[in-house]
Amino acid sequence: MLIMTDVLVLGAGYAGLRACKQLAKSKLDLNITLVNKNSYNYDATALETVAAGATAPENIMMDIADVTSNKVHFIQDEVEVINRNQNSVVLKNSKQELKYDYLFNALGFEPETFGTPGADEYALQISNIDNAVADYETVVKHLETYQKTGNKDYLSMVVVGGGLTSAELLGELVHQIPKWARKYGFDKADFQLTCIGPNLLSMFDEKQRAYAQRYLEKHGVKFILGQNVKSVSDTGVIYGDNNHNLPARTVFWTAGVSGSHVIEKSGYPEHRDRVAVNDDMTSPTNANEYIIGDVAAVKDQSTGRFYPPTGQIAIQEANIAVANLKAKLTHSKPVPFTYRSLGTVCSLGPTTGIAYDLLGFPIKLTGILVPTIKNLIFKRSAFELSGLKAALQR
Ligand SMILES: Cc1cc2nc3c(=O)[nH]c(=O)nc-3n(C[C@H](O)[C@H](O)[C@H](O)COP(=O)(O)OP(=O)(O)OC[C@H]3O[C@@H](n4cnc5c(N)ncnc54)[C@H](O)[C@@H]3O)c2cc1C
Repeated sequence: MLIMTDVLVLGAGYAGLRACKQLAKSKLDLNITLVNKNSYNYDATALETVAAGATAPENIMMDIADVTSNKVHFIQDEVEVINRNQNSVVLKNSKQELKYDYLFNALGFEPETFGTPGADEYALQISNIDNAVADYETVVKHLETYQKTGNKDYLSMVVVGGGLTSAELLGELVHQIPKWARKYGFDKADFQLTCIGPNLLSMFDEKQRAYAQRYLEKHGVKFILGQNVKSVSDTGVIYGDNNHNLPARTVFWTAGVSGSHVIEKSGYPEHRDRVAVNDDMTSPTNANEYIIGDVAAVKDQSTGRFYPPTGQIAIQEANIAVANLKAKLTHSKPVPFTYRSLGTVCSLGPTTGIAYDLLGFPIKLTGILVPTIKNLIFKRSAFELSGLKAALQR
């Protein structure tokens, strides 16, 4: 009698979908079940374009049914908790309890506001399609309020943070401001766009950082660096050692992410909802669990530091995790995870950007080719998941 192995994949982001794809083509006798909150997947790396109103949400979404093999049984529901000692997962809406032999935990990221007063309540966050769409609706509402009242606080916007997401969002916003100025009847010089954070794009070298800062400043961004935002309210932010008040009706919070709250709730050993995994991508507590993507913390053996979580590393982790499940089931030796960077790319809107280590070569690039490269990366990722049609639709 053939005994099938029950494999449960949680989350249909970069890590979860890649795991499903590799599991489906593994030729192992597996019952594969995928659980995801929504019926669609989205390109999380392009959410800032939706939040800024530069892209329609449907341009970065794919139906899960279209991108998974018919060997994958899909359940749309929310994971409530993982009962790690009973090899089961409880779903929030159906209250169903799913049993598994092997688990791929790919529940992804959530915004992290580090307990900053008012940030959860008043700041706009970018972590999924729903909040990215709601962000743009708020921006439009504030521009309409300016149009009706002439209150210039509604033309003041703050971006909190200084990493890739902050810079990419600023790049999209500066491209939108001239259009908004025409539509809502203001002089574009009256729009105050301020970025407050400890530093800007610290992962890039000084020259590329300076290019990004100069480009954004030239397009109207004011930087307040070396400072932290202490609180957010519906009228603005308080920042810095001297508690400066900056009036702004629109505040984007792009200063950090953590892993899914389900991690802490399920009792994993964690830091900011990320689990430090073994080098074969298994959980430190349960050998039948693979933890991949933004819920995993993976150490770079050469520096002793954890890699920053990215879409790129999430996909590579999924590949290794599936290879290691296959090794386990066929009694072969697992392989340790090693990261091969395909480059760090920061687009600053649709016409310029900065990038380094492209395709793993020591190549640095600045200028118009960068957004094109980022777009090609999306297309490649869509192509790998669901073929040419999906890639061309992107
Ligand atoms: C604006 C922005 C720009 C970025 N740009 C880049 C970039 O240029 N390059 C790069 O490499 N990385 C970038 N990143 C980071 C990258 O998006 C993440 O590292 C990546 O999405 C992680 O993939 P993942 O599969 O682990 O998780 P996610 O993409 O977060 O996917 C998790 C999935 O699980 C689902 N889910 C979550 N909780 C539950 C639950 N309880 N029950 C059921 N389903 C659930 C979610 O709906 C989602 O479908 C960016 C991130 C942001 C926010």
